[in-house]
Amino acid sequence: MPSASRIVPEVDFDRDGRQVGFLRLFHSVHASAYGFIPVPIMVLKNGAGPTALFVAGNHGDEYEGQVALADLGRRLDPARIRGRVILLPALNLPAAVAGRRTSPIDEGNLNRSFPGDPNGTPTQQLAYYVEHALVPMADLVCDLHSGGSSLMYLPSAQLPGYRPDERGERGLAALAAFGAETAYVAAANQGGDQTLTGACLRQGVLSVGTEAGGAGHLTPAALRMVERGVNNLLVHLGILPESDRIAPPQPTRLLEVGGPDYYVYASENGVYEPLAEPGETVLAGQPAARLHFPETPWAEPVLLTFHRKGVVLCKRMPGRTMRGDCLFHLGTEIGPNGPYSG
Ligand code: CA
Repeated sequence: MPSASRIVPEVDFDRDGRQVGFLRLFHSVHASAYGFIPVPIMVLKNGAGPTALFVAGNHGDEYEGQVALADLGRRLDPARIRGRVILLPALNLPAAVAGRRTSPIDEGNLNRSFPGDPNGTPTQQLAYYVEHALVPMADLVCDLHSGGSSLMYLPSAQLPGYRPDERGERGLAALAAFGAETAYVAAANQGGDQTLTGACLRQGVLSVGTEAGGAGHLTPAALRMVERGVNNLLVHLGILPESDRIAPPQPTRLLEVGGPDYYVYASENGVYEPLAEPGETVLAGQPAARLHFPETPWAEPVLLTFHRKGVVLCKRMPGRTMRGDCLFHLGTEIGPNGPYSG
């Protein structure tokens, strides 16, 4: 653990059994001079073996992972595992309590705050602790996201930061083990090195994740996908026995996400009318959305089209939109020679 971090864990990561408590993230404010932000953590350990680190609430308005990890921490019998499971169901706690993407305390977007700063804002301190104290303990990190308040995803597992190397191969194996109906790889992501994925790349630790649902609510089918996937990753790592594997209802459809032509952005401020839905296969030039202008009702709506063929992975949910908002992004089928070989 880096001495630079001022965060104090209430759990002993080396002790066997089930421990629950908080990461004490000290935050001195008018109403609480010496107080701390209590970031909940559950650690289950049984002897030597691999360590899995599961995170949800990296964005506070993404709920499937928060519920699945809380449930796992309560019901998993530490005597049944081999190794260690570290669970952080509400990582950016102030954001999770507020049901917001970012922390209301410092407006920090945790997944754009890595590698963090031990003396920075609460969100930056949290990022620093996760990257330098928690990630290095892990053999695999799973960061459970959904689309948040503004996007709705086709419930998917994802392998961001994919590269065609040995780590990439292990990532694809973990993605297959997760057992989601849809999964995608992405060579780059918009958060770049500032995400938890970036932290895992820097620390040389394998990471996978999800984009489960979104629209600021919890999708029951996506929750089932996350529960099954988390369980199956524990089996994949050998932390749970093979007999615990939950068979997915169908084989995983594996997609890849590429460059700017995979995205459709709002070109104007207005009211957005979606013309495609997540899960739909669309063609290049197919209508994606109409933008309407109630403030200047005599102005004709603007028609936006998809730039390429693909499967709609997510769409924007709020009707009001501004120029630059992401309205859709696509995934495409992976060729026989693996991701990005086409
Ligand atoms: Ca997210």
